[in-house]
Amino acid sequence: MDLRDTPEEAAFRAEVRDFVEQNLPEGATTRGARRFEDDDRDWSRKLGAAGYAGLTWPKEYGGAGAPYTHQAIFLEEMARAEAPSHLGVIGLGMAGPTIIAWGTPAQKERYLARILSADEIWCQGFSEPDAGSDLAAARTRIEDKGDHFLVNGQKVWSSFAHIADFCILLGLGLPDEPRYRNLTYVIADMHAPGVEVRPLVQLTGQPEFNEIFFTDVQVPKENLLGEIGGGWQVAMTTLLHERGTLGFALSATLDVAVRKLVALAKERNVTDPILLDRIAREWIELQGLKYTNYRSLTTLQKTGIPGPEGSASKLVWSEANQRLTKLAQEIAGGPNVDDYWTYQQLRSRGNTIEAGTSEILRTIVAERVLGLPRSR
Ligand SMILES: Cc1cc2nc3c(=O)[nH]c(=O)nc-3n(C[C@H](O)[C@H](O)[C@H](O)COP(=O)(O)OP(=O)(O)OC[C@H]3O[C@@H](n4cnc5c(N)ncnc54)[C@H](O)[C@@H]3O)c2cc1C
Repeated sequence: MDLRDTPEEAAFRAEVRDFVEQNLPEGATTRGARRFEDDDRDWSRKLGAAGYAGLTWPKEYGGAGAPYTHQAIFLEEMARAEAPSHLGVIGLGMAGPTIIAWGTPAQKERYLARILSADEIWCQGFSEPDAGSDLAAARTRIEDKGDHFLVNGQKVWSSFAHIADFCILLGLGLPDEPRYRNLTYVIADMHAPGVEVRPLVQLTGQPEFNEIFFTDVQVPKENLLGEIGGGWQVAMTTLLHERGTLGFALSATLDVAVRKLVALAKERNVTDPILLDRIAREWIELQGLKYTNYRSLTTLQKTGIPGPEGSASKLVWSEANQRLTKLAQEIAGGPNVDDYWTYQQLRSRGNTIEAGTSEILRTIVAERVLGLPRSR
């Protein structure tokens, strides 16, 4: 297998690199990932207008219909430039693919183009105070009232909810039905009466995610995705995409972090063999992650559906990133000495929780990648 860019891929890479250099908002690379500055929306709009949002989405939905290799190249170039991601991370990576798979023609027409253009931002309302890893335990009620759904309940840890226009919402639709057949999945308007968003401040000091309270919120019937009671299957599509295409972005950001770690070690003239060994380990882990991602890219190209390897990539990346940022802090002189590495270390703590905790991902890898006997 030849892992180098084809001439056509090399031309696409050069085009993306040029676009990023010309358009990146000033100061964007130094403020870390996922801060919501005003110019983030402008930047996202520019990415949409240039055709870089929804690269792999079918052309009929406003995407570029490009191969997944282009998506991987785009993410590598964005990471290399430390560019902020498109604000519509959840719309592009989760809500959009779920609507493409399950949505009615009217839903596709209404929502998809505005995700790409960053005119509408989405959040994901899955987790609840008593339903995180065990998502099937979601208890927010999505009651069928004949001509509309009535939503009551609480969601938590919803990233982007404070700036979101819509929410992909999973809740209890049929309380008398057994587990996995009782959930309903709808699109909720975040500006509807009865929706309240309360920001939660993270370890980093930033409120990136939120609680969402739904009190007698009316959701139109046409906002149903899949069937009443069929929400679990729809949610699985969302989660597969959440982890599946994430891998390329993760190895690209780890690549940047490893390069920064090496630069720091050179600058501080690190000679301690134990530290050198730890730095080398991170470089080796990165190579393993990269080649695993190339393998899952091949599966994705062939089937169009992300495989369970995405869970392994997310697990390895999140743990590597935590170790690496801690090591960099040590080399830089300890916690709170260096703002950049302190922020990265604090933010990395959430990485082993979001999009599936490490424990849950290990179970997925054991059962679905290695084919070991099921735990339950
Ligand atoms: C930065 C960040 C952003 C997030 N963004 C969103 C978002 O936008 N939308 C959203 O819906 N959610 C979001 N989440 C929530 C995230 O999906 C949940 O935190 C995660 O699923 C874990 O759920 P929990 O917090 O309820 O922990 P729990 O599920 O209660 O887990 C607690 C501990 O028990 C372990 N555990 C639980 N079950 C098992 C098991 N079966 N086997 C072994 N160990 C187990 C876990 O690994 C963990 O260590 C976000 C979280 C973070 C940190």
